[in-house]
Amino acid sequence: MPAITNHLPTSELQALDAAHHMHPFTAGGELAAKGARVITRANGVFLHDSEGNEILDGMAGLWCVNIGYGRGELADVAARQMRELPYYNTFFQTTHVPAIALTQKIAELAPGDLNHVFFAGSGSEANDTNLRMVRTYWAIKGKPDKHIVISRKNAYHGSSVGSGSLGGMTAMHAQGGLPIPGIVHIDQPNWWAEGGSMSREEFGVSRAKQLEVAILEHGEDKVAAFIAEPIQGAGGVIIPPETYWPEIQRICDKYDILLIADEVICGFGRTGNWFGSQTLGIKPHIMTIAKGLSSGYQPIGGSIVCDEVAEVIGSGEFNHGYTYSGHPVAAAVALENLRILEEENVLDHVRDVAMPALHEMWHGLADHPLVGETTITGMMGSLALTPHKDSRAKFAMDAGTAGFMCRERCFANNLVMRHVYDRMVISPPLIITPDEIAEIGRRARTALDECYVQLKDGDML
Ligand code: PMP
Repeated sequence: MPAITNHLPTSELQALDAAHHMHPFTAGGELAAKGARVITRANGVFLHDSEGNEILDGMAGLWCVNIGYGRGELADVAARQMRELPYYNTFFQTTHVPAIALTQKIAELAPGDLNHVFFAGSGSEANDTNLRMVRTYWAIKGKPDKHIVISRKNAYHGSSVGSGSLGGMTAMHAQGGLPIPGIVHIDQPNWWAEGGSMSREEFGVSRAKQLEVAILEHGEDKVAAFIAEPIQGAGGVIIPPETYWPEIQRICDKYDILLIADEVICGFGRTGNWFGSQTLGIKPHIMTIAKGLSSGYQPIGGSIVCDEVAEVIGSGEFNHGYTYSGHPVAAAVALENLRILEEENVLDHVRDVAMPALHEMWHGLADHPLVGETTITGMMGSLALTPHKDSRAKFAMDAGTAGFMCRERCFANNLVMRHVYDRMVISPPLIITPDEIAEIGRRARTALDECYVQLKDGDML
């Protein structure tokens, strides 16, 4: 067997992949028959595949490569850290410099009194931490019955048993016995799909009020926390009406419910501020972080915890942690990523340059016959595909059929855009230039045109 390298023919790599590699969130048999696209290298906002194509990455990997691909500084830091201290744990009264420095930096960047960090290897693990932490917090305070966590349908909080249960994805709940007990899901603030005849503002308040109804139904003395993404990401970049978050905040404050903001996508610049909570005016007790923390260069996540919760949790032993909590190489790389975001003023670039260009390009697609609403906050946006804009109609075929067709047309035009059911989603690296944004716009329009023809020819419009 020859060494498996980029020099093997694509078909051989695909056959080997199909033989042994089980892909996440994928119909394995279908992919094996078709062959996965082999990504070989990346630079800036561009991916390269084994066929020599240059692909514009409109999704920053999985919403994570905020500083773009190919930053050698992060590789240098990783190599240096591996030579000096490749691994040590922080379980048994030890610590190390990368963990100390990174927690210090995160506490400095995070708003309010979010001054403490519990590390995990991913967003899923961090949300599992949060689930146990909020329940433990109330138990230490003498309220062990305050254990229910309220979340939302179509939320995404990860793929482990705990975080998958927190999430509200029906397709995930249908497999493997989710959700676990003690988690309640209210409706999402998705006005386009579910707003009916209400105005956006009325709908935002009415969806937020469901939190109050759920608290009263289960009892204030039974509810530990509410968890939500400031803007739902994997659910299709659902930007809530402006009336939504103030009402949610009021309800959490009134009933003494801990508020967890899942910032795994929104954190580290994606919405134009360091955290989505700042953009949307949310004051959480805990924030979940991952992805942009290291720009995806190393797997690392965590929970940023406020003074009060950290103090209570610290009053006893919290029997929780991961072998790779605060991994020194991941922590050192994350710290270097934050240095680049800060010293290269990436947030200024987002606010002054990238965001205006991206918003103009995105809203410019609204005149396309297939496009219903276009919504965007900061550097994350979505558009609804529809056969009829004015009535906000859904397609007659299964939800996601048109979205999948559109994603395939994007991919064929060397643009990565994701679809969530029949919404197309964009979330490019934050360092993207106006020229590159214009190129996304051109490729997206071509893909939409091709999709329109396919739908029309197939009598699906
Ligand atoms: N929370 C949110 C909001 C996410 O978007 C994701 C990942 N898409 C997760 C949690 C889970 O993170 P991970 O895949 O790193 O476990």
